[in-house]
Amino acid sequence: MRVIVIGAGLAGLTAASRLVAAGATVTVLEARDRVGGRTHGIEVAPGSTVDAGAAYLGERHTELLKLMADLDLATVPTGMRGDSRFELGHGADTRAGRFPPLNAVALGDLFEKLAEVTAAVRPDAPWASPRAAELDAMTVAEWVEREVPHADARLFFPLFLGEMMAADATDVSVLHMGFYLRSGGGIRYLNAFEGGAQESRVDGGAHQICERLAAPLDVRLGEPVVAVRAGGDGVTVHGTGGNGGAYRADAVVVAVPPVLADRIELPAGPARSTAVTAPGCAVKVHLIFGSPVWREHGMSGWSVNAHGPLLSTVDDSPPGGAGVLTGFVTGAEAHRYGALDPAEQRASAVAQAQRLFPFLPDPVAFHVTDWVGETYSKGCYAALFGPGDWTRLGPALTTPRGRVHWAGTETSTEFFGLMEGAIRSGHRVAAEILSTY
Ligand SMILES: Cc1cc2nc3c(=O)[nH]c(=O)nc-3n(C[C@H](O)[C@H](O)[C@H](O)COP(=O)(O)OP(=O)(O)OC[C@H]3O[C@@H](n4cnc5c(N)ncnc54)[C@H](O)[C@@H]3O)c2cc1C
Repeated sequence: MRVIVIGAGLAGLTAASRLVAAGATVTVLEARDRVGGRTHGIEVAPGSTVDAGAAYLGERHTELLKLMADLDLATVPTGMRGDSRFELGHGADTRAGRFPPLNAVALGDLFEKLAEVTAAVRPDAPWASPRAAELDAMTVAEWVEREVPHADARLFFPLFLGEMMAADATDVSVLHMGFYLRSGGGIRYLNAFEGGAQESRVDGGAHQICERLAAPLDVRLGEPVVAVRAGGDGVTVHGTGGNGGAYRADAVVVAVPPVLADRIELPAGPARSTAVTAPGCAVKVHLIFGSPVWREHGMSGWSVNAHGPLLSTVDDSPPGGAGVLTGFVTGAEAHRYGALDPAEQRASAVAQAQRLFPFLPDPVAFHVTDWVGETYSKGCYAALFGPGDWTRLGPALTTPRGRVHWAGTETSTEFFGLMEGAIRSGHRVAAEILSTY
């Protein structure tokens, strides 16, 4: 059996590895000049690589952990020891722990309401949830207007949503938010570092998973696929890269985000995205120092801020090396920040970091990774389903279209949007193909 896989991200490469292990002949076509997709490592100092894309994982990410063990990759704990900083409109505050200096009852009420929405969603088929139509018709912004009266909860909520989903409240339906939180293990798990989804990182960077998976595979880089045409007893996949691009196969795995998949000419079938399927908006900023100076001052490097550009910061320093303070710029702020010129981006991020941590020297290096502008991602951390999307798209996300099969984190109902979801989708599609052909 011959299979073409489109996309050398975690999903495509996991699927390809499984298929090759089962005896299939597989070629992976990748538009970029690198593998990894939304995992990407950048070297910020000699021997120090940071994650410009996906970084964090937790113990429930069982397939990711198994894969890492197979590939001889280890985890490092995310550094969270020390006090947190908050800039939430009343000047900067230092607190032990991560709970923000806001009205605890109002935040408790917010999280209770979020838990209610999360519990109302059927995780395996959100479109079939009992209140699907009602929850899918409403944007999260409308839900906040109706359900979240307290000013402190309204201040905090967009920061939570940005951190969890890189989303703006106007872009997502309530059904999608509830599904995302449920699929990722619930609010508490998704939001937590120790014992949660941010417990650790891949030592040396998450991109290594894809690089190691790709090493023994037939991967063609710089080969954007534009069409898949069915004919005879197979399909032909057309790329525009240097290989003159026509690849014949028995089956195709499309392992690219749904908005990008819909731009490929494919055999007729239901759409897998709509005009309101929005790209998640995340810009990751890395400030590099000689060492993690904040630790000497009893700080964890963690901060949460009502105003940008850095809506949160976290210590991503590699063990025993440079000090890496990662800043997250998400939601509407990501668009504003992305439009600044590089000097303004640097000046505003450094000024904010030095306001939060006044002892910080100027960084020795500074990196901005703007995922909003990435042609071959369009949706980071993941695609955001807007009003009506789940009820309209539902099963089309995974139902094969003839010999065309789907993978990618957006096709996984478990850990949707995360590396774990991408890997599980790769396993699912490989099993589907092996049982079909
Ligand atoms: C800033 C950021 C932070 C994140 N943080 C985390 C985190 O902490 N933890 C976590 O678990 N997840 C995180 N994620 C999400 C995680 O990266 C993704 O869920 C996962 O990597 C998706 O893998 P995938 O294979 O489904 O898609 P992708 O990685 O997007 O792979 C798709 C591949 O297809 C290629 N492609 C696209 N179009 C074409 C075409 N026409 N022809 C050929 N190739 C094409 C792309 O170049 C890409 O390589 C984050 C993502 C980002 C961007």
